[in-house]
Amino acid sequence: HKKQRIDKVLSHMGIGSRSDIRKQAKQGLITVNGAVVKDSGFHVDPYKDEIEVGGEPVRYREYVYLMMNKPPGVLSATEDKRDRTVLDLLKPEHAQFEPFPVGRLDKDTVGLLLLTNDGKLAHELLSPRKHVPKTYEATVEGEVDAADVAAFAAGVELEDGYVTLPAQLSILSRERGSKTISQISLTITEGKFHQVKRMFIAVGKKVTFLKRVSMGELKLDESLPLGACRELTAAELELLT
Ligand code: URA
Repeated sequence: HKKQRIDKVLSHMGIGSRSDIRKQAKQGLITVNGAVVKDSGFHVDPYKDEIEVGGEPVRYREYVYLMMNKPPGVLSATEDKRDRTVLDLLKPEHAQFEPFPVGRLDKDTVGLLLLTNDGKLAHELLSPRKHVPKTYEATVEGEVDAADVAAFAAGVELEDGYVTLPAQLSILSRERGSKTISQISLTITEGKFHQVKRMFIAVGKKVTFLKRVSMGELKLDESLPLGACRELTAAELELLT
């Protein structure tokens, strides 16, 4: 492995900024293979050398895997001229890994969004051949009924002629008023552009709220506030690989 400056390695690990690291080194808080290193320009092999900061071992890693509860009004893109993107919401300790969103949610869609800098995992999760199931909860204007459940199970024809793969629709609840509103859950195994909204349009109904709650075996942590992000636990990461 290539040796790198210890301040670069530690700031990449989220230990602090380069100037924080310089101060900690000066204070004698940083050791490499048991020896105090006061020079923050000291070169280390991050994979081999044992680095400790304030007595705590630092484990170097290349990849980060984040779960975001995407809020409405931000794009799940990496950059945009006008709108804020999900990357703008990341804390520096996550942003430094330069993660990107795995797949897209519409600007107004909320819920589970995975971000990583592991291109291979992202590619596998997005591969159309893999048919990774994605479950959404939605509010739909109109009375979603057994005929819709059957239609989605069989496949519906979108306005461009594409027929969707079998999808599992469940009706969670209905509110009858001047307009009936249905709460539903829908699991799809593909990810066409605006797919959930277009499937409901195909049966004459309109999605007014859309939230992704799972991707593969990974579930949205409902305790994450909108816009917040956390690293996946080891167990969660295992569910994806
Ligand atoms: N389907 C949609 O219509 N929008 C999303 O954001 C995700 C799935």
